[in-house]
Amino acid sequence: MTIFSKIIAGEIPSYKCAESDKFYAFLDINPLAQGHTLVVPKHEVDYIFDLSDEELADMVVFAKKVALAIQRAFPCRKVGMAVLGLEVNHAHIHLVPLQSEGDMDFRKPKLQLDADTMKQTADKILAEFER
Ligand code: 5GP
Repeated sequence: MTIFSKIIAGEIPSYKCAESDKFYAFLDINPLAQGHTLVVPKHEVDYIFDLSDEELADMVVFAKKVALAIQRAFPCRKVGMAVLGLEVNHAHIHLVPLQSEGDMDFRKPKLQLDADTMKQTADKILAEFER
């Protein structure tokens, strides 16, 4: 079971931003920017390109809805979308609010946001997602 499957199952806490029957979105614990969100399929698959065409298409459409919610909650120039998957072997899409190109640099030091700020951030995105 991957760490993300444990998060989806509620065995490990997360800051929930959005959910559907097939997908779950939650804040990255080490964000590049406030609102940095991960979108994962509930179905456990390591490599995103091992998903079926239909699952991948559905995941991107779900990520689009989450991205629009992030942008309403945290106004930014655009929301960047990236797939790495080098650390956690459970397919996921990173959504990062962008003000500049450097906001998407995964080598830069991550933000340290306290638990209250993380909760408020996720709640704001969730409220926009459900609007
Ligand atoms: P990647 O696999 O795409 O290279 O990176 C995995 C991402 O998941 C990283 O940005 C990391 O901060 C995030 N991450 C790893 N473990 C956890 C966790 O337990 N909870 C949350 N919310 N994020 C995690």
